[in-house]
Amino acid sequence: MKLIFEMGAPGRGSELVPECRSSYVLNTALREKPLHLPEVSETEISRHYTELAKQAHGVNDGFYPLGSCTMKYNPKVNEEAAALPGFTGIHPLQDVDDAQGALEVLSKMEDMLCEITGMDACTLQPAAGAHGEFTGLLLIKAYHTNRGDRNRTKIIVPDSAHGTNPASAAMAGFDVVNIASDDHGCVDLDALKKAVGDDTAGLMLTNPNTVGLFDPNIAEVTRIVHEAGGLCYYDGANLNAIMGIARPGDMGFDVMHLNLHKTFAAPHGGGGPGSGPVACKDFLAEYLPGIRVLTANTLPDAVCASDFGITDQENHYIVSRADRSIGDVRSFCGNFLVIVRSFCYILTLGREGISEAATGAVLNANYMMHGLKGHYRMAYDRVCMHEFVVTLEQEKQERGVSALDIAKALLDHGIHPPTMYFPLIVHEALMIEPTETESRETLDEAIRIFLDVLKQSEETPDEMSQYPLAAPIRRPDEVAAARKPIVRYFRE
Ligand SMILES: *Cc1c(COP(=O)(O)O)cnc(C)c1O
Repeated sequence: MKLIFEMGAPGRGSELVPECRSSYVLNTALREKPLHLPEVSETEISRHYTELAKQAHGVNDGFYPLGSCTMKYNPKVNEEAAALPGFTGIHPLQDVDDAQGALEVLSKMEDMLCEITGMDACTLQPAAGAHGEFTGLLLIKAYHTNRGDRNRTKIIVPDSAHGTNPASAAMAGFDVVNIASDDHGCVDLDALKKAVGDDTAGLMLTNPNTVGLFDPNIAEVTRIVHEAGGLCYYDGANLNAIMGIARPGDMGFDVMHLNLHKTFAAPHGGGGPGSGPVACKDFLAEYLPGIRVLTANTLPDAVCASDFGITDQENHYIVSRADRSIGDVRSFCGNFLVIVRSFCYILTLGREGISEAATGAVLNANYMMHGLKGHYRMAYDRVCMHEFVVTLEQEKQERGVSALDIAKALLDHGIHPPTMYFPLIVHEALMIEPTETESRETLDEAIRIFLDVLKQSEETPDEMSQYPLAAPIRRPDEVAAARKPIVRYFRE
């Protein structure tokens, strides 16, 4: 396939590109020479992107059970909301009085996320899950530092954690202490008790954890950490199993992030844009980054609404900054249009819809787990939450068929592979998350295909390493693709 830079001819163009409406660009920031952009006709653009879309597998193409990533359907009404001119034409430097609608979205979104998580305050600024983790850890650091408690340098992370957890803790300047999981993939309480002390800044935990199980000792876990003087961070990237059912704030967590681009139906894949809001308890709110959107009702007691010229208290929003803010982690209000999409999603579902989505996600995962059981080996044979993990360790040993082989063979049947080789505590792992947006027929068909592929791997194990046969790319050198990606076009 040709790159778009190799297509077209000078002078060709199309009406597809939206007009640039921003009048805020400083003259000093303007290019001296025009940017070298491809000049292509509408037909060429249209064909080019259609061809690109055909080369990839998206949620609109077929089943996408990529565990931990929550590849649910992205309702098109969210796109319509995000395309409203009032949202697309606004500028973050615009006068607050002209941005009341956008501020209302931000304020109400924060309120809804606080309600869903059981937290008191929220920032929508972080642009991704890992970015939210980093932000939350800086809040923990600010809390200890402001109390003069400077010896708390350690963050405890269970070995089942998502890889971003230890990475974020290290980036925020903490030392990472790993603790082992018990036989059920949950936190080993004895190991935790041994690990905590007066150098513990906090614990980072995902619950349900990365093997799809809800930790039954969660209240005890947060109690142990608090008793040692640490804070509890909840990785809420995938809230799909518990939203509207259970709340991290009630489990004893102090701060957390959510991935709007997983649980709350904002599109993802391909590197963004995402949104990873951070919600926290009251005592951490004074450290939050970014602007705080306030209404007259939420103004601190010391300020009088009339000082701000506020007459209609219900409907006027103002912005301020938290007293001891850690500073901005991103420009302005975060990825605003991603927030609008998820805002629309939450309003569409409502209180009942949110919990129905969660129960549907758990039901679908258990349905599929039971369909595969007895053929695929379950890493943990218990009722799962929104995802479950199978292990191909025995197949690998007995006939050399790996999790990768199975995953690649699924591609030929129009199924995106599950997450592979994660969590690290399970060998030859495939992590499967069907999500609530799949029908029973789709699940039945997927189960049939998973079983067929496994059978094929028993009958012709030697052929398994050649799949996929039908995909545009077969088996790329994944190390080279990750380490030496070519992301720029060089013109000869
Ligand atoms: C996806 C995920 C993250 C990271 O989110 P990004 O937006 O990719 O940075 C963190 N933790 C868990 C459990 C996740 O599934």
